[in-house]
Amino acid sequence: MDILWILWTIPAVIAVEETLMDSTTATAELGWTVYPVSGSSDNSWEEVSGYDENMNTIRTYQVCNVFDNNQNNWVRTKYIRRRGAQRIHVEMKFSVRDCSSIPNVPGSCKETFNLYYYESDADTATRTSPAWMENPWIKVDTIAADESFSQVDLGGRVMMINTEVRSFGPVSKNGFYLAFQDYGGCMSLIAVRVFYRKCPRKITNGALFQETLSGAESTSLVAARGVCIPNAEEVDVPIKLYCNGDGEWMVPIGRCMCKAGNEAVENGTVCRACPSGFFKPTQGDEACLQCPINSRTTSEGAINCVCRNGYYRTDSDPLQMPCTTVPSAPQTVISSVNETSVMLEWMPPRDSGGREDVVFNIICKSCGGGRGGCTRCGDNVQFLPRQLGLTESRVYISDLLAHTQYTFEVQAVNGVSDQSPYSPQYASVNITTNQAAPSTVSIMHQVSRTVDSITLSWSQPDQPNGVILDYELQYYEKDQSEYNSTTIRSQTNTVVIRGLKPGSIYVFQVRARTVAGFGRYSGKLYFQTMTEAEYNTSIQEKLPLIIGSAAAGLVFLIAVVVIIIVCNRRGFDRADSEYTDKLQHYTSGHMTPGMKIYIDPFTYEDPNEAVREFAKEIDISCVKIEQVIGAGEFGEVCSGNLKLPGKREMFVAIKTLKSGYTEKQRRDFLSEASIMGQFDHPNVIHLEGVVTKSSPVMIITEFMENGSLDTFLRQNDGQFTVIQLVGMLRGIASGMKYLADMNYVHRDLAARNILVNSNLVCKVSDFGLSRFLEDDTSDPTYTSALGGKIPIRWTAPEAIQYRKFTSASDVWSYGIVMWEVMSYGERPYWDMTNQDVINAIEQDYRLPPPMDCPSALHQLMLDCWQKDRNNRPKFSQIVNNLDKMIRNPNTLKAMTPLSSGVHLPLLDRSIPDFSSFSTVDEWLDAIKMGQYKDNFANADFSTFDVVSQMTMDDILRVGVTLAGHQKKILNSVQMMRAQMNQIQSVEV
Ligand code: AMP
Repeated sequence: MDILWILWTIPAVIAVEETLMDSTTATAELGWTVYPVSGSSDNSWEEVSGYDENMNTIRTYQVCNVFDNNQNNWVRTKYIRRRGAQRIHVEMKFSVRDCSSIPNVPGSCKETFNLYYYESDADTATRTSPAWMENPWIKVDTIAADESFSQVDLGGRVMMINTEVRSFGPVSKNGFYLAFQDYGGCMSLIAVRVFYRKCPRKITNGALFQETLSGAESTSLVAARGVCIPNAEEVDVPIKLYCNGDGEWMVPIGRCMCKAGNEAVENGTVCRACPSGFFKPTQGDEACLQCPINSRTTSEGAINCVCRNGYYRTDSDPLQMPCTTVPSAPQTVISSVNETSVMLEWMPPRDSGGREDVVFNIICKSCGGGRGGCTRCGDNVQFLPRQLGLTESRVYISDLLAHTQYTFEVQAVNGVSDQSPYSPQYASVNITTNQAAPSTVSIMHQVSRTVDSITLSWSQPDQPNGVILDYELQYYEKDQSEYNSTTIRSQTNTVVIRGLKPGSIYVFQVRARTVAGFGRYSGKLYFQTMTEAEYNTSIQEKLPLIIGSAAAGLVFLIAVVVIIIVCNRRGFDRADSEYTDKLQHYTSGHMTPGMKIYIDPFTYEDPNEAVREFAKEIDISCVKIEQVIGAGEFGEVCSGNLKLPGKREMFVAIKTLKSGYTEKQRRDFLSEASIMGQFDHPNVIHLEGVVTKSSPVMIITEFMENGSLDTFLRQNDGQFTVIQLVGMLRGIASGMKYLADMNYVHRDLAARNILVNSNLVCKVSDFGLSRFLEDDTSDPTYTSALGGKIPIRWTAPEAIQYRKFTSASDVWSYGIVMWEVMSYGERPYWDMTNQDVINAIEQDYRLPPPMDCPSALHQLMLDCWQKDRNNRPKFSQIVNNLDKMIRNPNTLKAMTPLSSGVHLPLLDRSIPDFSSFSTVDEWLDAIKMGQYKDNFANADFSTFDVVSQMTMDDILRVGVTLAGHQKKILNSVQMMRAQMNQIQSVEV
């Protein structure tokens, strides 16, 4: 309460009283009107001269008729002008004789009198008007004395004076009279002062408030708007004070503060401009600050200090921080060359420019390439930890060419380097690389084995450092000493090792040789030859399978057995040993006996029966819906929690069926659950259950944090490694293999129907059938065809033409999904019309490789798009193929050459031909990199000639920081170069 009061009051505010009438200042008789007229039968009020407590002469009115009954004596002041006041205060000084002190006084003796007022616009009162009675007069109060005096003694001796103040209002006429009524007392009215109150002119809280009259009631607050003093501004709300009935300012609201560049002085009543050499960046109470080092003001009232020439500030440097400059060059660069790599170390610059954000960039130039000059190093040179923005004073550079001279410039840059017109200072060092042996062979695997031989194959070393002359393979029996090893030379990277013991484990190592000598041996790998027993069981294991799956006659069976026995000597002898690299272990696509087959829920007489059989009913009390995450075909898709009894709570997706559905819609909606419920595979979306016994009807599945694959890829354009993308494709293929094995044909395999979880695991989803059955959907992806809707761009030609939907047509769609994935969600066939797509496919056109797509992957796409569906790979083969690529990332390095020898004509629209644009800006727009137009222009990459020569270094330097964008631009530049060369050769 106290605190509130402190906030509400304005200290040291003295109310101002404006006097309207003061009887003590009268120099002559007061001449007030008396009733009844004195001198008549009774004695009414009588004007008498007397003295106040300070012995000044004053004019008073006295009355003392205590012995007569029915007294009614009035005295009326002269007309008093109101002068704008709304509330009038009357201060009365008087003395009253104590009735008990008068001997024999009757009971009618009074010790009080009444105060009245009467409003009038003009001084029109007469002896008889207004009538001497309450109404017309308005009574203010009955006034009683605190002290009485026992002896009327006007001779200037003992006198007890009372002072009482009364107020009344609102008053509105031009003026008023006051009257005092005595009804049988003995009293003296010594002084009457009439006044009103006002709040004085005042400067407070940075604003000026003009003098304000207090309100009509003692409790009223009169609001007054303040005006900010010069160079101050209101903060947030308009500034206000209230003038209370006592003429005091209170309840300050809002405030004004000195503007930026001005500070408050003279007790906050003046805002003064900051003097030269000082600044104030913001509005507020703070004082001006001295300019930081290396900066100055250009005028008084500065809001910041500008940096002196050669000194700068970054956008994030606080204005109080000294201005800084570029660093000096790094000191003493030391290089140590090791074959084709070099370690550079240096001392930090002597002068950091006054900043703590100094980093280093390495410029690599290879010199002495025969033509004298130096050229920027290619992209293949590796910098560890990185090439630009090094925070430590060392870098490891590898993958340089052998026997080559290099110059490295170590630039020192800091946060203000890009503001300086000069290029960064650097220290340079020249080195020459040495000869280098090839790097280690890192991947070796078993191709096949027999009882007495093993065939091995391996990849080239990552860095051959020259032409590989041959390989040396060393092996020995695991139980023998390494000293008894045998070595064989091979000019290719495959070798058959013969003459081995049956069922024995051997240890193998391989190394490559160039003119510089041998590289290091690879790590040890263990492979085992077959035992006779293994060889026999492998035949027995395969027999029942073949018998079970082939519905042929006995003659055919015998023929198969014969063939298999023959084959086992050659191809089927590939049983896995415990030492075989586990990545090599994959199963072939045959159907496992006892494998379940998918049952179409619509083959049930009552489809609800299928729901009961394949989907678990969940009680709605276990489900907690959290938020809507998408729109499904039948209603909203939400995320939420599922807590089944005895199980941990899990995050789930909840598809709902909107209310007002028909029985058929309910059936179609739930059919998805009865299909999904039959599947159980890590790459197929998992059904948790259904809610059908309460409303709304729901399908509950595992939650996939990253949503659908197409959107996810578009949002992360260029952000994944090829291996990550192939990993996603492998997951989808594996889910599809499972579905195909269950005889389920998806018919709508597309990136939009793949969901991605937080671990980037992709799962096949969307098993709704209705889309294909109904004709009412407005989604242009699905085009009406005879007997249903078809997503043309994803669908195999035989399925479009005569509705031949099979797992082979799903493989075609899978090829399109591969293309969608490798192009980060690009629309297949871009903006071509569906009819154009159908025609192009008919004429053997196929989608070209997306940018950066390894040729092995594009080849797999083309295989999926074989016209004859029998020639398309099975999902099991696709999974195997992708597994091989993951195990052998080198196979993903080769990109389809620009003028590739692929036998089908290509629709290459992914990188536009630069010659169809007239400016670099247009070309950047076309490759969807328009946001870098300014970066290119500022770095003078404004003609196709210079752009076509850009290296990765240049792209980095113009400020392209996202890896995906760097790649996109580099690819487009390379394409431009190739197109230029083509043009030149045509011209020649
Ligand atoms: P759908 O009706 O299956 O096409 O689902 C509509 C949208 O809801 C999809 O595009 C996803 O964005 C989202 N969605 C569906 N199922 C899931 C799920 N299991 N986890 C996360 N989001 C999902």
